[in-house]
Amino acid sequence: MADPSDLVTAALRADDLASLFELARTHRIDFGCRPMARQLDGGRFESVAYVTHAELDALRQENLPLEIEVMSDGLADERRAAQTVGQGDRFANGRIPPRGLGTHPRQDLGGIMNPDEINSAIDGLVNEYGIPTFDTPYPTADGSGGRGGHVGGVNPDDYHVYFTAGVHARERGGPDNLIYFIADLLYAWKNGVGIQYGSVSYSNAQALKALSTGIVFFPLVNPDGVRWDQQTDSLWRKNRNPASARPDDDRSIGVDINRNYDFLWEFHKHFSSDVYQTNDSIASIDPSSDQFHGVSPFSEPETRNVAWVYDVFPRIRWYMDIHSALGDILFSWGDDADQSNDPSQNFRNPGYDGLRGIVPADDYREWIDESEWSRVFGIARRATAAMAAVGGRSYGPLPAANLYPTSGASDDYAFSRFQVNPAVNKCYGFTMEFGPPYHFYPTLVEFQQNVVDVGAGLMEFCLAAADIGWT
Ligand SMILES: [Zn+2]
Repeated sequence: MADPSDLVTAALRADDLASLFELARTHRIDFGCRPMARQLDGGRFESVAYVTHAELDALRQENLPLEIEVMSDGLADERRAAQTVGQGDRFANGRIPPRGLGTHPRQDLGGIMNPDEINSAIDGLVNEYGIPTFDTPYPTADGSGGRGGHVGGVNPDDYHVYFTAGVHARERGGPDNLIYFIADLLYAWKNGVGIQYGSVSYSNAQALKALSTGIVFFPLVNPDGVRWDQQTDSLWRKNRNPASARPDDDRSIGVDINRNYDFLWEFHKHFSSDVYQTNDSIASIDPSSDQFHGVSPFSEPETRNVAWVYDVFPRIRWYMDIHSALGDILFSWGDDADQSNDPSQNFRNPGYDGLRGIVPADDYREWIDESEWSRVFGIARRATAAMAAVGGRSYGPLPAANLYPTSGASDDYAFSRFQVNPAVNKCYGFTMEFGPPYHFYPTLVEFQQNVVDVGAGLMEFCLAAADIGWT
């Protein structure tokens, strides 16, 4: 990752997905949270790359069959932490509860929360609504640990929905989105009112229905990374684990939490070399890579903390990991394109090692039962439709490997657990990529709109989960 002042956001557009896959396969550049391709009005496809000026010039000189448009150049002051991240503690050590925009619409939400404010906001919810919380058991490198809460249930078995945020440090505002959504639900419950997100309104009965799913929320999975990113504006992605770092390279600190889960983690074994030889988006063994996957599956306290929650709440059925920035909800799978014809073609079958990940080719595709596919596609479509209805921004459902594969990601881990171990509950895994595209650091106006969009998406996700159930 370069100096953010030297960074250009480039939209890369092509007539077909295969061209963008080929571009990603043959270039080691930063494709954001993960390489994705959105279909634009008119049918063309667009990926986003975060490149230096030198990388941009090199791309242009290749004369690829692409349209390359610069969407932003450098880091505008209005996106820097000094302008957008809260100072001090607006929640006064939990004496002031957070109020969401769905029950208290206003123009002065304030900045993006700093890590101390995130903890103070949770305390505020505890003091105002009496909700139970948990401290995660595995301390992070800087000793921050993690904290979450749960609402809507009585016993551990009553919790069926699980949200995480704050994984990739630079994807600012994810924890805020989650906390303000929970705050809206609790305010609606306590005061007998409904919730309004832009032009989408939910009744009090719907708020209670969403709460009845039993929601576990863990808003800041990567406190060390977020703290560092907010201090440095360095577009930091990983955690801050120094164990594999080289003394002369600051970028070699840290592990990509979302490549450290136990799902096809050993990518050199499980995937085709074509998808990792040049591009390291899938995962990397190089500590200097933004996708460094650690020294073993679950080597990182952050991933172990996320997984620990499944043990504490064993009936979780619906999981969503909140990321940015694109404008989509991703559904299974993320290691290759989906297929419903051949159950033997699946991630546990060693006969397909070395073949996975070539998304446009059908030599390997990941098995998902057709009825399961309809279910995960349907809930992603329903949640993104609500997000789009809020204020007119574009949101849609996409398969997680719509352009390029990932190894060791949280959503695939969630959906693979019960397939590896029949003793654990079935869980569907999703990733939200809240928008808008082209920037990890929202302006305050964009941040505020993100809170509203995500509120509607999480609300609709819970309502869909309640409609489908968990038996
Ligand atoms: Zn991300």
